[in-house]
Amino acid sequence: MVLAELGGRISGAVRQMSNEIIIDDKVLNDCLNEITRALIQSDVQFSIVCDMQKNIKKIVKLNDVAAGHDKRKIIKQAIFGELCRILNPGKASFTPRKGKTSVVMFVGLQGSGKTTTCTKYAHFHQKKGWRPALVCTDTFRAGAFDQLKQNAAKAKIPFYGSYTESDPVRIAVEGVERLKKENCDLIIVDTSGRHKQEAALFEEMRQLSEATKPDLVIFIMDSSIGQAAFDQARAFNQSVAVGAVIVTKLDGHAKGGGALSAVAATKSPVVFVGTGEHMDEFQVFDVEPFVKRLLG
Ligand code: GDP
Repeated sequence: MVLAELGGRISGAVRQMSNEIIIDDKVLNDCLNEITRALIQSDVQFSIVCDMQKNIKKIVKLNDVAAGHDKRKIIKQAIFGELCRILNPGKASFTPRKGKTSVVMFVGLQGSGKTTTCTKYAHFHQKKGWRPALVCTDTFRAGAFDQLKQNAAKAKIPFYGSYTESDPVRIAVEGVERLKKENCDLIIVDTSGRHKQEAALFEEMRQLSEATKPDLVIFIMDSSIGQAAFDQARAFNQSVAVGAVIVTKLDGHAKGGGALSAVAATKSPVVFVGTGEHMDEFQVFDVEPFVKRLLG
């Protein structure tokens, strides 16, 4: 189920509830069950959806609503609040500050859109007056350095990498040091990925994080991975302290629900979303407008 379809079903369920003449527990249950089904079919983890349903029922006590109060409005507000709560882990992500050098490390599986997103993130900040730079530490995938180099050159962003050095930690440390000397204030470290979650990958991420001491680690998640989102996000978060999530490929047939699971698994907010292959197809993610759109 694509994101627009999920939104359609949630808003449809709310509309159906609103159209009922009498709002009782059955009407509320029908509405919540339809939202639950829609979320599960959109790959949101089962336990997250169950908690959401329980919380809404706790907030909305139809028998206790005083005469004259709008039950429809109370239900709608509770649904809105709960969807926001799932997407809002309660802690803001580290935000780079101009004039102070920040190191941001990107992690994610191969094909998640990590390299593309590194450049988008650099380009986004460059437009706002930062001096970003890119470091390619992916010595695993042949062609990774050329890809980053080409992207960086296109966006006129300084970059660092090596065709000969095979130790990603060494490249990372040298790259960060060099780019700091060049007065870059936002140093973005692109890391290697694998097709699946592997111990070697997580060990490499741990070492890279230890060596470069990033101010922020961003987990890149392909929105089409579905139910795997929770486990994947949790696995990365166990090896490095993930502080933010970027969800990519939301322009495709993504179900989108994985984003909610990634937030739950890392207790970190989604900060941007990728909506295409192009450098500018990248948007700041804000919870409330997103949920408002979802509810129609
Ligand atoms: P990496 O292996 O994680 O570094 O992934 P890449 O950055 O090489 O991206 C893998 C593929 O996904 C490439 O073909 C990208 O152009 C594509 N891609 C990345 N982000 C997006 C996005 O937001 N939307 C779409 N449609 N494609 C994307």
